[in-house]
Amino acid sequence: MSANARSRTKTTSSPSARAPGEPRELLNYRLAERIAQDELATIYRGTHLTLDRPVDVHMLRRTDWVSSSRFQLAARLAARLSHPNILPVIDAGHDERYGDYIVTPRIDGRPLDAVLAEAPLDPLLALRVFSQLGAALDYMHQQSVAHRDVRPENITLTPQGIAYLTNFSLAHAPDTPDLSSIEEADYLTAYSAPEQSLTGGELRPASDLYSLGALLYTMISGELPPAAGQPIKAQADRDPTLAGADRVIRRLLSVQPGQRFANAEQAATALRQSLRRQIDASTDDMEESRWETTAEWLENPVESVIGDLIDHEFLGKSRARADALHRSGALRRTLDRWSRQGFLRKPALGQVVQPEQIVSYNLYAYELRVHYETRAKLVTRERVYKGEPINPQFAELALWEVPVPELDGFVDAPAEVMVIAGSQKIMSCGECNGVTQVICKQCAGKGTVEKTRRIKEADGSARSEAFAASCGVCQGYGKVACPRCEAAGQLLQEKTFTWSRQGRAFFNEDDVADYQKLAVQTQAQEVFRQPIDAYAPRWYQIAPLKELLESVINGGGPDSRLIAAELIIRGTPVTEIDYQLKGRQHSLALIGAKDEVRGDLSLFDAERALLYGAIALLALALVLVLIFFR
Ligand SMILES: [Zn+2]
Ligand SMILES: [Zn+2]
Repeated sequence: MSANARSRTKTTSSPSARAPGEPRELLNYRLAERIAQDELATIYRGTHLTLDRPVDVHMLRRTDWVSSSRFQLAARLAARLSHPNILPVIDAGHDERYGDYIVTPRIDGRPLDAVLAEAPLDPLLALRVFSQLGAALDYMHQQSVAHRDVRPENITLTPQGIAYLTNFSLAHAPDTPDLSSIEEADYLTAYSAPEQSLTGGELRPASDLYSLGALLYTMISGELPPAAGQPIKAQADRDPTLAGADRVIRRLLSVQPGQRFANAEQAATALRQSLRRQIDASTDDMEESRWETTAEWLENPVESVIGDLIDHEFLGKSRARADALHRSGALRRTLDRWSRQGFLRKPALGQVVQPEQIVSYNLYAYELRVHYETRAKLVTRERVYKGEPINPQFAELALWEVPVPELDGFVDAPAEVMVIAGSQKIMSCGECNGVTQVICKQCAGKGTVEKTRRIKEADGSARSEAFAASCGVCQGYGKVACPRCEAAGQLLQEKTFTWSRQGRAFFNEDDVADYQKLAVQTQAQEVFRQPIDAYAPRWYQIAPLKELLESVINGGGPDSRLIAAELIIRGTPVTEIDYQLKGRQHSLALIGAKDEVRGDLSLFDAERALLYGAIALLALALVLVLIFFR
């Protein structure tokens, strides 16, 4: 491995150790001790004579043409690039006696390789270094420059955690010197992408991303990265919270350049997301200046109660979406884009809206599909007993203990009368007292009924005469078969109820402003679906779900019980922005993964709407004129 071939060899020699013939003064700079030497240059501590400012002076120590070109390129690039995480060049030139030199500010920091020689970095510091270098690389790539040599030796880290990318001598830029005469293999390190080439004419940002991934691996593990394509040791094996970092590393170390992230910021966002818990727990406010100061993430109560059960991909994506929108300038860009995409939209909305507060959160809607069983109309009935066997039960079952047909979860059952087992009793008929016959009501048991007949006398007058006739109902017997027990003498008494099952759906949702409602509903995606125990206390910690469960439990009426419940939760990410416009308070919301913009009329261009309205009216008037005065 030639990784160390070009390592900066740190030699902390005293001023007296300076070799004879070494420079003491260089134009405006007084040189002190030699502090280090790298492949191209010897580095001295120095002082700017007139400004009395501490500097580092890098003197080219080789005279061949390629080294000289590379040194000058590094000077030009570093001077041209202006980024808080790129070590700036404050002066460069050529001295008649000593040759080419570059001057950089004195940074109170150490090379990252020296820091890593002692111990791996804390994951949060690694994230911080990763984000800073990633931002520097994204910036360079936008300027059509690739670094091509990202590794710990070329990074300076200050005690405050600020990282600087240095050494642009192998960079690819539009004016890159021809490096075809150098032995390429000598310049490949453990951090180089497998496709890395110093002579290729095209810009390859993905190769820098590979190196950034290899660097992340070293920062977290303290070990050299694996050779390209070899298995990558999972850091989660020793610290489970690093599982997300493993994923970011594996993706950046993909052998195929196209499989790495599109840019370093995406990788940093994924890494930040994976370390969210540690970040939240740490008091160190990361990269505060890169975030909108007014932006805030609000955790939905349902996430703190059952966050472990909600679709993790949804939670991760919505959080990453909020992080992206909370970065400086992101909202402005999003709103400007929205302005461009619609005819009557207020132009450059991003400039018009000055956010006073930005909050992001997930909104949830709850659906409870429940099934009720109803056991109602409890009656005691007596019926004719014809000697059939009855259910041998020692004791009468309670109403809700009576077995009913087993049905799958959410199948409806029509109303059906059922007998309560154990309630059946055989008893003698109350009507006939078990005698099977009752007194004939027609003749009151006498067997005869009194009738009258008219008798005509000889003198022509008529009179009525009563006489006893045999009863037609009981045929003179005086008794009839008991109609109640159909002459069995016995009745079967039993208790019955009406049983049925039916499903209902109940809905509730987090409080949503009216103007957001439709977008929230259409953008919502299912994030949870499970049968639940509607009586389990955990669900009652979530206010809208508690409301829902309370109405559900009583929702079947007094004769019903809840027998099955399935909970479905749908979620939508929302970012809400409060702003002032012409002295009035407004708010708008970006809703869902597609960032649908919802707000009031202040989002639209009233003048343009009036203008087009007026044009439409004029056109209509013209048409009418043409019709009537033809
Ligand atoms: Zn009877
Ligand atoms: Zn009778």
